[in-house]
Amino acid sequence: MTKTVNHVVTRPGRKPGDADVQIPVAQDLTTVPGIRQRDADVSFYSRVYPQETQNIEKAADRQWVWSVYSEETLQHRKRHDELNEPLVDAAAVSGDLEPTGTPTGEDITDAIRLKARELGFGEVGFTKFDRRYTYTGKKRWVKYEHAICLALEQDYVQTQSLPSMDAEFAHFGTYEIEGALLLDLADYIRSLGYHAQVHSPNDNSAPYIPMFVAAGLGQLGANGQLLSPHFGSRARIALITTDALVTYDEPIDYGIHQFCQVCQVCVNRCPGRALLAEKVWWRGVEKNKLIYERCRPVMARYDGCAVCMKVCPIQRFGMPAVMEHYVATGEVLGKGTHLLEGYTFLERGYFGPGELPQFDRQFFEIPHGRNEEWLFQQFKEKLMNEGLPPEEEIVGFAKQVRNILVKGNSTIGDE
Ligand code: SF4
Ligand code: SF4
Repeated sequence: MTKTVNHVVTRPGRKPGDADVQIPVAQDLTTVPGIRQRDADVSFYSRVYPQETQNIEKAADRQWVWSVYSEETLQHRKRHDELNEPLVDAAAVSGDLEPTGTPTGEDITDAIRLKARELGFGEVGFTKFDRRYTYTGKKRWVKYEHAICLALEQDYVQTQSLPSMDAEFAHFGTYEIEGALLLDLADYIRSLGYHAQVHSPNDNSAPYIPMFVAAGLGQLGANGQLLSPHFGSRARIALITTDALVTYDEPIDYGIHQFCQVCQVCVNRCPGRALLAEKVWWRGVEKNKLIYERCRPVMARYDGCAVCMKVCPIQRFGMPAVMEHYVATGEVLGKGTHLLEGYTFLERGYFGPGELPQFDRQFFEIPHGRNEEWLFQQFKEKLMNEGLPPEEEIVGFAKQVRNILVKGNSTIGDE
């Protein structure tokens, strides 16, 4: 059934020099530019319940994953961390570097956008760095008020093989390339006379998606990922903040907020049953929430999983094709087909539309919270079940807690 078009979004082509693309948004998909939000609630939660990075808040399971990785994943992750470490370290101090050029006082939005596109970033947008989202441990680190949102596409073919080691090579390989490109772009901004601070994709200062949405680069999908026009969520996202004079972009309604409620492919195909069909209000924003504890055990054991990225039609076919198809037919392009929905799960084999792998309850029992919290939890259970342990065991517990506290928290992680 043909749909009435409410508005048409025009965006730059996929690569520099490509013609602009037109994305028709059907009337029944139209909601608001960006995302439905209650500003006062976002501010309240930010003040009373500030967020911390999962690399700290979920440190216990992030350490646990190393114990269930396959040998190939383990070696690959170690190699990636070695290659990535200097890039993350350089980003951490990038905001302290002084400009190398002289500012003209002119708006340099276009110059930065052009340079970023030349370097290979597929989506570039400008907005205010929204400090309400800043992670607790990074509040004093963030120096400049303007955010440049940058998305680097990862390889199309490798991504379609998700979940697989090949796709993991693309995932982590894209981070390695992006880490270097961000430093290059920051150097360029300094050469124009301004400061530039690189917010690494592997040492996040905040959840970056809200700022990408504010900059009009896409909308939040039901899979919890940014769906951008050309490559959906097949990208790795990062920020640079600067004190340069720039002009902010505006949020856009691509129709995604409502389209996901019609589509639901990722929700139905998620092997962990971690994605929720209905939207909820969470910290002042209306969104489909992901249940972390249902996702993590699957990700850790099945090559990063990311079936939710693979089966998304926006990722597979691009937003223009998907929205044109919806306007012409009222249907979701590829929904119900093996091409879009099928995936292979290591030794468990192939799962077509309507088929999901099964896991027992124990599969989902993983460590929770911070490392010291998890240790306390285990100690508490032991006390309840076995009574007071011998003195040397209590001392051993205290030593373990002390070691964790002395080591401190790291904000650096895999995303
Ligand atoms: S990574 Fe896998 S388990 Fe986690 S939400 Fe996506 S599809 Fe579900
Ligand atoms: S698969 Fe469908 S429901 Fe899920 S994020 Fe993509 S468009 Fe939205």
